[in-house]
Parts: sequence; C-alpha cells; structure tokens
Amino acid sequence: MEETVRQTDPEIAEALQKERGRQNHGLELIASENFVSPAVLAAMGSVMTNKYAEGYPAKRYYGGCEFVDVAEELARERAKKLFGCDHVNVQPHSGAQANMAVYLAVLQPQDVFFGMDLTHGGHLTHGHPLNFSGKTFTVVPYGVRRDTETIDYDLLRDLARKHRPRLIVCGASAYPRIIDFALIADIAHEVGAYVMADIAHIAGMVATGFHPSPVPHCEFVTTTTHKTLRGPRGGMVMCKAEFAEALDKAVFPGVQGGPLMHVIAAKAVAFAEALKPEFKAYIARVLENAKVLCQELQNLGWRMVSGGTDNHLMLLDLGPDGISGKKAEERLQRAGITVNKNTVPFDTRKPYIASGIRLGTPAVTTRGMGPEEMKLIARLIDRVLRSEDEAVWAAVRSEVEALTRAFPLYGKL
Ligand SMILES: *Cc1c(COP(=O)(O)O)cnc(C)c1O
Repeated sequence: MEETVRQTDPEIAEALQKERGRQNHGLELIASENFVSPAVLAAMGSVMTNKYAEGYPAKRYYGGCEFVDVAEELARERAKKLFGCDHVNVQPHSGAQANMAVYLAVLQPQDVFFGMDLTHGGHLTHGHPLNFSGKTFTVVPYGVRRDTETIDYDLLRDLARKHRPRLIVCGASAYPRIIDFALIADIAHEVGAYVMADIAHIAGMVATGFHPSPVPHCEFVTTTTHKTLRGPRGGMVMCKAEFAEALDKAVFPGVQGGPLMHVIAAKAVAFAEALKPEFKAYIARVLENAKVLCQELQNLGWRMVSGGTDNHLMLLDLGPDGISGKKAEERLQRAGITVNKNTVPFDTRKPYIASGIRLGTPAVTTRGMGPEEMKLIARLIDRVLRSEDEAVWAAVRSEVEALTRAFPLYGKL
C-alpha cells in the first residue's frame, strides 16, 4: 500500500511505513485500540471517499448516490441486527460527534444532565468543563464508591431525585466492571429523565452478549466503531423509534455535513464480520486474556482498581508513592509496550501525570495472542515498572520484538 503513496509522496510513505513497523513490532495494550481486518482497511481506502452524500439513503442532496446508498443501507441493517435496536444512524464521524448529536436532539443549552466523572472513568464528552458538553449544559457528575471503586448507584439515585436531570449519560472509558444499565435506566425514568448509554469501549461485548445490553432500557445508545467492535474509526447512534427523526436531524444537518461514505462502507464490512461466530469467539478470548493478564499482575503484587476486571480492560494503580502513570507509560514505551496513563478514582495527581495505567487486551488478542502470552506480558510489564535500569528496559524490548515476530500483522499487505 505504501508503494502507491511513495510514487507521489515519499515523505508520507515513509511515515506510513514506520507506523506499520511500530504496530507490527510493538505490544499494543491501549484499551481503546484494535487492528481492523484487511477488508475493513480496503473499504476505508476506497473510491467512496470521493462522494458527497449529504442526507440519508434515497433522500440525498446530491445526485449519483445509488451505490453509496447501498453501503449505508447495509451498514444500518447490519447494525440493527447486531444490537437489536429500532433505529440507527451510522453517519457520526466519531464517538464525540455521536454524543453531540444526542445532546442536540434532546437538550437545550443550560439543561441539566448527568455524566460520569472523567477521573472515575467517564469520558470528556460526558460533561467535562473543557468539552462542549460541559460548556453548553449544566452538568452534575457522578462516580464510583471509595470502598468498592464501582459505580455508586445509590448516590446516583439521590442526585437524580435532587437535581431532576433531563438526561443521564452512562458508559465509560476506563471502568473495568459490568455497568448495570437496567438500574441506571430505572433511576432515570423515575425522575422523568432520558438515558444515553455510551458503549464506545464495550460495544464488542454488548454485540456478542458478554455484557448486558443497554438497548432495551435506554432511549439512546452511542458507540464508536473502532474499539472492541474492530471497525473503522467512527461513531454511531442507536435509538428508540420515537426519536429516530430528531436524531437523524441532529446528526445532519445538526452537527455534520457530508458523511464519510468510505468509512460507512467499512462500518458495514465490520458489522458483517461482527455478526459471524468467529467474532464472538474473538471477544471470548479478549475477556479471557484480560482476566489472565489482570490476575498475573495481581500475583506479582500490583493493585488493580476495583480488584479485577469483568471486561477487556484493567486499571493498574501505581499508588501515591510509586512512580506516576506518566513515568510508567514512558518507561513501558521504551520497552516497546504501549499503554496510557490514567487517573485512578480519587487520584491525588493531576490527569496529565496520573497514578495509574490502563491496559486492554483487544489489540493483542486480534494478533492471535492467548493466555500464555498474557502471562509473559505481565512479567515483562512487572520487570519494566520495577526497574530504573535502561538496560533492563532494552532487554524487555528485545523480548517484545521476539514475541511480536511470532504474531505478525497484515503480512504482505
Ligand atoms: C472513545 C470514547 C469516545 C469518543 O470517541 P472518539 O471517536 O475518540 O470521539 C466517547 N465515549 C467513550 C466512553 C469513549 O471511550
């Protein structure tokens, strides 16, 4: 692929090739990342990028949309089958825009909505003061309990009765446990609020039945398509039939112009893949790998937020006196292991420094790694985190390279 680019742009070709090498020779443990299939990659790099298609299938503002309509219809039908929702909009360019569209569909500026605190595992778009969501609306954050580090549903109910929000947003970016969507919907509906579940991280588990689905309980469900769902970078919104029109208007013309038809085609390809039994088997392995990685790190003496994981990710708490998350991230990078620093609940360090690191298994599982590799990875992480010695990090880097060579990505593509 890079060769086609090289003929006209050697500088970008070089960056592409180096990025391919980085992906191939490193251990990707960022919980929000994954590797798409060659078919998804090809659909994204296709001629559909050339097409303007403002509007929706059969109701476009441009001519020549008959084939992009096929792609969008297939994406919609497959998404409905995958999640069992009434209606879906596959046009959001990203998870952030999917959330923005829901807010635009049901909230007025200054309206009260609830979102999970970023430092407890929530997302910027769930009402952070620096994000459009926090700037536009009146946000009341909720979070986890100090003792269990799991969502404080009692506090959520008390807050809902007191503030009477118009919308409760649930779902998270760094929460290792099952989320009780049915309970949250019950709390919301008691006070007349709508619920939006953002399943950006756990969509793969929801699609395959390994995590309880929010779809029956929530008016809106948003997701990204590029995390555990293993599709192209993008977003999507599902909703109950009665909100279909308001939602579609909020996506276009509300927050976006022309849809990315090449990405929508790739979403359709990814949804077809996710409907296959192989995808369910993949998610089962992601979960098994996360359990093994987590248990092994605990055996080596590391503390995990909430004491473990039910999903594809875990939060390792380095503690207030240990090295910071930032330092741990930098050090692991030197050893070829990519993670991200992350605050832990009630963190005393600033988010840019943080006291934890977030680890996830979707990407390494896509490469074919299993429980034995997870145990090795845990030992490699442990060695790097416990050593100040650059020679140790370099030695681990060689082991990482040997491991990744045994699980090649994309072959000759
Ligand atoms: C990743 C994520 C998003 C945002 O996705 P982008 O595509 O990066 O905008 C939104 N919500 C949650 C919970 C996420 O984890």
